[in-house]
Amino acid sequence: MVGVHSIEVSSMKYISTRGGVSGLSFSEAVMMGLATDGGLLLPDSIPQVSSQLGDWQGLSYSELAAQVIAPYVDDISKTDLASLISQSYASFDHASVSPLVEVGNVHVLELFHGPTLAFKDIALQLLGNLFGHVLSGTSAKLNILGATSGDTGSAAIAGLRGRPGINTFIMFPDGRTSPVQELQMTTVLDKNVFNIAIDGSFDDCQSLLKTVFNDLQFKSRYNLGAVNSVNWARVLAQIVYYFSAWYQLQRPSEFDVAVPTGNFGNIFAGFIAKQMGLPIRKLILATNSNDILARFFNSGIYQKGSVHFSESPAMDIQIASNFERLLFYHLGQDSQQVGQFMTDFHTTGLARVPGCTGIMEYFDAGSVNDADTLQGIKKCYQDYSYLADPHTAVGICRAEQVLEPGVPMVCLATAHPAKFEAAVHKAMPSIVPRHAALENLHGLETRKFKLPASDDHLRAFIGEHCPDC
Ligand SMILES: *Cc1c(COP(=O)(O)O)cnc(C)c1O
Repeated sequence: MVGVHSIEVSSMKYISTRGGVSGLSFSEAVMMGLATDGGLLLPDSIPQVSSQLGDWQGLSYSELAAQVIAPYVDDISKTDLASLISQSYASFDHASVSPLVEVGNVHVLELFHGPTLAFKDIALQLLGNLFGHVLSGTSAKLNILGATSGDTGSAAIAGLRGRPGINTFIMFPDGRTSPVQELQMTTVLDKNVFNIAIDGSFDDCQSLLKTVFNDLQFKSRYNLGAVNSVNWARVLAQIVYYFSAWYQLQRPSEFDVAVPTGNFGNIFAGFIAKQMGLPIRKLILATNSNDILARFFNSGIYQKGSVHFSESPAMDIQIASNFERLLFYHLGQDSQQVGQFMTDFHTTGLARVPGCTGIMEYFDAGSVNDADTLQGIKKCYQDYSYLADPHTAVGICRAEQVLEPGVPMVCLATAHPAKFEAAVHKAMPSIVPRHAALENLHGLETRKFKLPASDDHLRAFIGEHCPDC
């Protein structure tokens, strides 16, 4: 008994999928974001918790999170970690953080009770606190640079606003996010938040981000940090709610989880939960018409297509940045093969794996088009009085196609319907979904900085707004 509790911190270290980085502490991994060898960071082993699942029954969300996360953290004390976690979820508007709601034959896990009404808050609230903890007591300055098509930007800003030592620069394509998404960012007037409206597309924003991060001299001069979903801490925070769902279901012997997927971050967290010993049977991967992942899981061929604009815009992605993490495990943790696969993909637009066996069989992948998504929203509301946002509806539609009798199905709800009001309204013209947090943004003072899509202008802007860097 004493032995178990006397271990103050774990001995976990972090490695890169490309083999060029190893031995990092947790804090170093969080601060590095993308591995410096171009790969993604992963823990050097996955902790097994099957024998502890019984002990965690009845814990609050934050207490459960502290148990799930602690084995991955080697350089923050358990007491500090528990307090960072409970601060992160104190701002949620539901006591259980991720409540489970019965909707017809499925159970919807609502992940949108944080400050910006999307599931990204669950990870970015914690990431903000982790950055703050690592910087506390130092004179270091951190400059976060991010690009967003909508949800990531506001969630990152909500996690980082007002923090000493951290500036947050978020680029978005001017006029191309939804009006409410723009308001969620530009109504934040804290001195350390810079909303940059780029005269260009989201692709332009992403390529500016890449160019400036690849300027290693600039990156180290300004201590640039990343908040996109390649940061390991984001995946780690998301593992927790898979456990929460299982406890809320009263610990069934197995269950399925349907995940609306874009960058493969959320569903990869589910994969880790399964590897830790949570009895997930299948991970149901649901994409919109941007179906590179659905095609991969059904053929073993990873091939880029062109981006389609859909009713679930947070998943309008052709390259899933977290996919490399799964590939690493599928290829037997062979960094060389991972590197070869990614090189093939980037040079020819196509790469393949030997077979979709082994861990690939944990996934069941399919895509749902816009017409079916809107129909799904309508059906959920008419049959069960439940209003789903279009991303959530993609997951529910796919889940209903693959329901297995006797196996509970959890569908992850990734955004509040009011955040994607136009699509919901299109599905059901009589309904205008609302949420007070969004209504209250109208008429508030806003601030944004307009910049051309030029990396020189971006560098100059960062330099000018971090005079003491
Ligand atoms: C980001 C986002 C997704 C996609 O999540 P991934 O981790 O990229 O798969 C789905 N739905 C909503 C509402 C999002 O904001």
